[in-house]
Amino acid sequence: MKIFIASKNAKKLKELKRILEPMGFEVISEKDLDKPFLDAVEDGTTFEENAIIKAKSGLAQTGCISVADDSGICVDYLNGAPGIYSARYSGGHGNDKENNKKLLKELENVPMEKRTAYYVAAIACVFPDGREFTVRGECHGHIAFCEQEGEGGFGYDPLFISEIGPFSQVTDAQKDAVSHRGRALIKFKEKLTEYLEVK
Ligand code: IMP
Repeated sequence: MKIFIASKNAKKLKELKRILEPMGFEVISEKDLDKPFLDAVEDGTTFEENAIIKAKSGLAQTGCISVADDSGICVDYLNGAPGIYSARYSGGHGNDKENNKKLLKELENVPMEKRTAYYVAAIACVFPDGREFTVRGECHGHIAFCEQEGEGGFGYDPLFISEIGPFSQVTDAQKDAVSHRGRALIKFKEKLTEYLEVK
């Protein structure tokens, strides 16, 4: 059975393939289509809504079971910002350096005990018969006072101190074991298995 991953992010594709191929799926993505994949307008108000919007767009364009994810970081002192706007916090899409600079500025002079934050990852799956589900993983920690050393991770990781230390200083495997995405992927596999059993 084919399953479409509605994401251009090579790392997310690889992670999802690692789970879905051993379950017997033929994993396909944009590069396997004979026409360009049109990005959906992510105008949901939650991570889950945006993940569903992207997955539904995948289903509409391919006719296959489709999977998509949406993720970001929520800072308690900022009432959950940047949240679903994490990728474009500083304006342009995906400018990690500027996003981190803006976050540090917003938290200037905020003491450590008020710098709590958590990453969220929502993964959505939609089926041609109309069924759909989402799962959510969270990873809680703190925002550091300045960028931490280390080359690990991406995005906000140089600022994020998790229960196992700064995300820029842990290996991919260490991060996967506690991360929002790692946790969401475990739930995703369980839920997908349930949905495949009940047809
Ligand atoms: P999207 O889910 O691809 O729309 O983008 C989510 C945004 O949230 C990314 O651009 C990153 O800024 C941030 N983000 C999500 N997960 C992580 C993570 O594991 N580490 C660092 N930043 C992340």
